[in-house]
Amino acid sequence: MAEFFETDYENRIVSSSFAPEDSAGNADNENNLRPKTLSEYVGQEVAKSNLSVYLEAAKLRGEPMDHVLLYGPPGLGKTTLANIIANEMGAGFRVTSGPAIEKPGDLAALLSSLNEGDVLFIDEIHRLNRAVEEILYPAMEDFALDIIIGTGPAARSIRLPLEKFTLIGATTRSGQLSAPLRDRFGVLLRLEMYTPEELCRIVERSAGILGIEIEHGGAMEIARRSRGTPRIANRLLKRVRDFAQVLSHGVITEDLAADALSRLEIDALGLDRIDRLILTSIIQNFSGGPVGLETLGATIGEESITLEDVYEPYLMQIGFLNRTPRGRCATKNAYDHLGIPFTDKKGNLNQMTLEEN
Ligand code: ADP
Repeated sequence: MAEFFETDYENRIVSSSFAPEDSAGNADNENNLRPKTLSEYVGQEVAKSNLSVYLEAAKLRGEPMDHVLLYGPPGLGKTTLANIIANEMGAGFRVTSGPAIEKPGDLAALLSSLNEGDVLFIDEIHRLNRAVEEILYPAMEDFALDIIIGTGPAARSIRLPLEKFTLIGATTRSGQLSAPLRDRFGVLLRLEMYTPEELCRIVERSAGILGIEIEHGGAMEIARRSRGTPRIANRLLKRVRDFAQVLSHGVITEDLAADALSRLEIDALGLDRIDRLILTSIIQNFSGGPVGLETLGATIGEESITLEDVYEPYLMQIGFLNRTPRGRCATKNAYDHLGIPFTDKKGNLNQMTLEEN
């Protein structure tokens, strides 16, 4: 039984985190699929229109752009957007991530190597440790490094100037960012999940770059099952391409996409086996909830933090799961989707559901 419940969330096809297969091969490389300009960047209209004003203003002033904080779930295009900002400003682009910078000295070295106008992108910026974070404050505010020389009473602080640069931070959890750090960003942009129509345009664009023949219906089918996330859409496109080459002379039609995705156990709403396991467990083992996160995690063999960060956001977004103070509850929509008759809390079969079915 334990084996059945064993889950490997980072290897899920519908994981929104970066996976090695996203950069496999040369033509398939995730970088090749990244839009290079704001006009190629699909969707996120609010963020894009604000950003184009800030970019224009910075260019008119001949100054680097203000520091930008991008937040939203993985795979929505934060790195891509940071790249585009650097491109549009004609600036150099340097990339690092919160967990990669261990010591304050590492960040100080990186900052002092920047040229005027460069964009420094720090992914997962909420995972910077406190000592490293403190180096950033004067760097962001005054373009300076405060270095302490010596120890004890003889210690003194000297200030080294830095070139003017733009810091772009990306985070999946803006709530975890410390207030002093968040306050130092001039521009805060929140990325939203994409609509199926926007994802369809992304799939068609990627198919064009990768030389994959795809019909509009096929692209739409992939888009509908991609959980609002471009990274998943691109990954599913590559998987479905394999089926198309073997089963349909290389062309991705709507039927072929639906068949291939069902074989990959991704259902019509993009839920995979683990999502369905979570919902059926709440419904069958806990009468639809509420059930505490820890208990639910133990039942399906998954850590509660993984449940919370990886699985729940999409299940809540599509209205299948509610978070209540007493625990998680499956909604009537979830019952309907799984084809399980909905019962109210007294155990009576809901007549509406039966009639609808
Ligand atoms: P994040 O940094 O938020 O995890 P990325 O910027 O790495 O996400 O995006 C993942 C992939 O999704 C990229 O390779 C890119 O091809 C694609 N992508 C993301 N946003 C868009 C978009 N708005 N238009 C087209 N493709 C996109």
